[in-house]
Amino acid sequence: MSDRPINLYSDTQTQPSEAMRQAMAQAPVGDEQRGEDPSVNRLCDMVAELLGKEAAVFMPSGTMCNQIAIHIHCRPGEEIIAHKSAHILNFEGGGTAAFSGAQVHGLEGDGGIYSLEDARAAVRPIDRYNPQTRLIAVEQTSNQGGGTIWPLERIQGLGELAAQHGLAYHMDGARLLNAVVASGVPAKAYAAPLDSVWLDLSKGLGCPVGAVLAGSGAFIEEAWRLKQRTGGAMRQAGIIAAAGVYALQNNVQRLGEDHANARFLAEGLRNLPGITVDLETVQTNIVFFDIAGTGMDAERFCTLLKQRGIILGGAGERIRAVTHLDVTRAEIEAALDAIRHLVTEAAA
Ligand SMILES: *Cc1c(COP(=O)(O)O)cnc(C)c1O
Repeated sequence: MSDRPINLYSDTQTQPSEAMRQAMAQAPVGDEQRGEDPSVNRLCDMVAELLGKEAAVFMPSGTMCNQIAIHIHCRPGEEIIAHKSAHILNFEGGGTAAFSGAQVHGLEGDGGIYSLEDARAAVRPIDRYNPQTRLIAVEQTSNQGGGTIWPLERIQGLGELAAQHGLAYHMDGARLLNAVVASGVPAKAYAAPLDSVWLDLSKGLGCPVGAVLAGSGAFIEEAWRLKQRTGGAMRQAGIIAAAGVYALQNNVQRLGEDHANARFLAEGLRNLPGITVDLETVQTNIVFFDIAGTGMDAERFCTLLKQRGIILGGAGERIRAVTHLDVTRAEIEAALDAIRHLVTEAAA
């Protein structure tokens, strides 16, 4: 085994492969801000086609896709229905409130997924006292839920609810393609009821940067205006978009390996003293596990494993491991060995 650490911290930490770097180096480029970068245009066409939407726009990050979509859908004082663990609520620096003045009605639900009944109950009656519900948001897969997959029927049911009440419908699809590969449901089917949907290139797809937001032609025109306004318009961005084109052609089906590795890791962890893991939530490439029974907290657990060359993230008594294209099955086995040693020593 090499000396490089086994990095299970996040699928954001992947390095662009040699072949991806070649594709980037050879990419035809132009002025993206003027719509003249052929590699960016190609990437946007590919994503619009994949998601069955009229148009798409390349963005520097997934956070920007979420915030721009929210800004288009919501006016100040309006309300968004989302799971309480949602990225838009917890990990975007308060952007939803700061940029759009919208508030999030955070719903409960196992594995980061709320029920249709709870969403229906959360739609505010129209009167002078209530904030007005404007947007329904889902996160495919649910990050804090453990990479769990929103079932297609739930996505469709929420689409009907949104239509009944004249609400907009948005998907944070940071890991939508993980859901697609794991479930066999086409991306287009998940995306069909949505007004706005994006996918991240810099997570499991292994690109250094970028995300692509898709929707109707009118929606994407408005998204372009906000991208320009917030300084997100770029120049010869084909250099990075080419990584996205490469990833869509080469790195999608292989996400299945990450899912198998996550499953393998979770099953190995389940048998270790002091560790509990809910196998039901391990549906894609994320494994949350609880270390309360080891007598260590997350900080100590991660520090000791880092000394053994294993990088994990966590808080309190909850640890997160994310599998991705830079972690092999052999490295998962090595990580399990290291964790086994650590918890066995701690128990002794
Ligand atoms: C990573 C992530 C984002 C943000 O994407 P960036 O490209 O890092 O800005 C949004 N939502 C979810 C669920 C994520 O995991």
